[in-house]
Amino acid sequence: MRIGQGSAVLSTAGGDVGLVDSLGRAINYLRVSVTDRCDFRCTYCMSEAMTFLPKRDLLSLEEIDRLCSAFVARGTRKLRITGGEPLVRNGVMKLFRSLSRHLAGGALDELTLTTNGALLSRYAAELADCGVKRVNVSLDTIDPQKFHKITRRGNLANVLDGISAAQAAGLSVKINAVALTCFEENEFRALVEWAHGRGIDISFIEVMPLGELEEQRVDQYLPLDRVRVQLAARWTLDDINFSTGGPARYVRVRETGGRIGFITPMTHNFCDSCNRVRVTCRGLLYMCLGQNDSVDLRAPLRASPDDALLDAAIDLAIARKPKGHDFIIERAVAPVVGRHMSATGG
Ligand code: SAM
Ligand code: SF4
Repeated sequence: MRIGQGSAVLSTAGGDVGLVDSLGRAINYLRVSVTDRCDFRCTYCMSEAMTFLPKRDLLSLEEIDRLCSAFVARGTRKLRITGGEPLVRNGVMKLFRSLSRHLAGGALDELTLTTNGALLSRYAAELADCGVKRVNVSLDTIDPQKFHKITRRGNLANVLDGISAAQAAGLSVKINAVALTCFEENEFRALVEWAHGRGIDISFIEVMPLGELEEQRVDQYLPLDRVRVQLAARWTLDDINFSTGGPARYVRVRETGGRIGFITPMTHNFCDSCNRVRVTCRGLLYMCLGQNDSVDLRAPLRASPDDALLDAAIDLAIARKPKGHDFIIERAVAPVVGRHMSATGG
């Protein structure tokens, strides 16, 4: 057995390899952003006038594959491809196809993605063919006008078609919805009713203060206990122990039989059990979504064809994973983290 830099990395000669941070948290989940671009401009995620990275700054798909594979070799069991909108990256299916070898070989438990769903009808069957079993689709409302207003350019019908195509291809769909003050009570209920009517679980998430927007975060932020109260006025919510390995706490709705998750980064932080890190599309590894520290993986990736330098940079990063985030949402308080969610990858 070898104990790596900063006591952060544990590996065993028997092939049982894993990254463990200085607080003893096993890091076995990697989220990889393949682009910072998107066909939407959701009001809580991006500002209307975003500047995107020049394409030459992005890791190539081959580099992303090599980077993911280096993490898989270090014990990553779950890979989530994200963005920006991952399905707008040219050739992204080649990446899914090549990463699927880790599923086939048993080194990876899950290859998945988070998407706004607008291009899902085009890619759902191919994703399923690449071994993707579940997909998270972000959908905050099923009111077409409200949807267009929040996404600033999205067309709800495309997203709903994408969800149907995903289900038809055999993918299990989960909806993620950001809870915002601009939603009426009946919109949360309508969304749950719509999802559960199609056998789809849904998680609500509290908005996080990432990046500057036109609006003040405090005017968007809705604590999820208020959403729960609204839902409980309509249905019976039974707390259940179900977990997908993430931070959501679930209830089952007795009347619909479906599940609702609550992800509460603001009101109940879940950093003690954090098992993930994130790589941006230009190869910066962020050890915490809510902190500014990062480690560049692009330079070691490009410096040498073998992974020794890359592995050393990963060790260094994991040793620096912080205890947790310091999110604050208050009027006139600038976000501690200046990058938008679309830059880090959700
Ligand atoms: N474009 C894809 C999508 O929308 O699913 C993937 C990237 S998006 C950044 C990933 C997730 O982050 C989405 O579910 C989105 O709703 C969420 N998100 C974006 N900005 C957020 C914020 N400030 N706070 C909480 N969630 C946010
Ligand atoms: Fe695009 Fe997803 Fe951000 Fe919306 S939440 S702007 S779809 S990256």
